[in-house]
Amino acid sequence: MTMENEYEKVEAELTRTRENIARLEKEMEDKPDYGLGEGDPAIVRWELNQALLQQSRERVASLEQALSRLEQGIYGVCERCSSPIHPDRLAVLPDVRLCIRCARTAGSSYLSSVPGRQQNT
Ligand SMILES: [Zn+2]
Repeated sequence: MTMENEYEKVEAELTRTRENIARLEKEMEDKPDYGLGEGDPAIVRWELNQALLQQSRERVASLEQALSRLEQGIYGVCERCSSPIHPDRLAVLPDVRLCIRCARTAGSSYLSSVPGRQQNT
């Protein structure tokens, strides 16, 4: 695994996530009238976007940390037990910080901090 490729991959993911945030923010400029009632599709959609926006912002922070670990040369090393993280796992979760064994013992609280990526880990 060459770190240069990893760096590009994390940066690309970061760019994509930032674009996503920009798109969501634009879409959310038109806040629906809550007078429509809670179940109105416009409101449901707005609230969904808000949740996505929050997740995307957390993801940006996580990816930025991954970049700084790459710069420090500690990328791909488990934060908890210092074992190398399997390349397949890094391929799916470029900003992952724990090896699969530690992630399992850390439980769902850690996994839930990786938005939308709870599966296939
Ligand atoms: Zn570990």
